[in-house]
Amino acid sequence: MLIIGIESSCDETAVAVLRDGRQVLSSKISSQIARHAPFGGVVPEIAAREHLNAIQPLFDAALSESGIKIGDLDAIAVTQGPGLVGALLVGVSFAKGLAVANNKPLIPVDHVHAHIHGALLGLSDSVAESILPCLALVVSGGHTNMYLVESPLKFKLIAHTADDACGECLDKVGKLLGLPYPGGPWIEKRAAHGDPDAIPMPRMVERKSRMEFSYSGLKTHMAQMIARQTQPIPEQMVNDMCAAFQREAFNQIIRKLDIARTQHPQIRGIVVAGGVAANKKFREMAQATFAPRKIECHFPDLAYCSDNAAMIAALGWHMLKERGAGAFLDLAWDVYARYPFETHAT
Ligand code: AMP
Ligand code: MG
Repeated sequence: MLIIGIESSCDETAVAVLRDGRQVLSSKISSQIARHAPFGGVVPEIAAREHLNAIQPLFDAALSESGIKIGDLDAIAVTQGPGLVGALLVGVSFAKGLAVANNKPLIPVDHVHAHIHGALLGLSDSVAESILPCLALVVSGGHTNMYLVESPLKFKLIAHTADDACGECLDKVGKLLGLPYPGGPWIEKRAAHGDPDAIPMPRMVERKSRMEFSYSGLKTHMAQMIARQTQPIPEQMVNDMCAAFQREAFNQIIRKLDIARTQHPQIRGIVVAGGVAANKKFREMAQATFAPRKIECHFPDLAYCSDNAAMIAALGWHMLKERGAGAFLDLAWDVYARYPFETHAT
């Protein structure tokens, strides 16, 4: 089966063509980071306009690289949400137009669930098939969600952030430290030269038994520490702050993962997806914690960490396989109809 995926939820426009849900024939991404960098964050109005400029050329390029024609497609999968409404509308409107003009089923896909399928795309076929049930984390600029994934379409949300997302916290602290946008990769670079033990950090939500993440307290702690320093802060101190802060940001996730692992002993592995999953230190910390417990942690190929459309097509393929094309002929849905997704299966 051939599926084209379309993604426009935030600051990346992406189009990808997949055969049978796992073979990526083409995957094109146009990032807007440079357009938003001067503002220190994503500007929704700019994002929507950039998607509008990028989507048609990207679609043409993805289709031509895949070597297939529109008529050959079995379905179109598009990100329905969550995301920026103006940005989502561009991808959804484009996809609806394609579906109507070419008489194809249109599959509305949950972006956060799709991230988990993006991580599975980076695994060998045998591992991807044998890993469920697993614990899956989506750690990105907008989400810090932990799921129990029982089957390709059964996602049970078992923890999410009470306030800021992990990536959002990295980006905001990066900004406070005067690092470029987005802060996550820059904090990683500076942390590599720092001593994480040089500066004590509070351990957030450690004693709370409920499964929940929280990053606003850690952000405020960093903001107050930065405000107390004489400016400019010495280079080595910035490195140490980055190392200590980054370690605690990731330790919080690892602590909660460890609790979830004991609560769900049936799991066969852990999958970590989303932009923050690109961080090498995070990968090392997770492996070091779970390898001795005989649980493998899987991180996606870097190409599938951040937003991409291969993951949208991959989840769309599972939905099409399980429900059949007839379930996706009605186009009377919109980007506002996505909210039940968060608590129910896709
Ligand atoms: P996403 O929301 O999935 O597009 O991912 C973007 C988020 O990932 C931003 O918050 C980035 O700061 C973060 N990010 C990207 N690369 C890294 C990295 N190497 N280390 C930590 N965070 C990162
Ligand atoms: Mg993004």
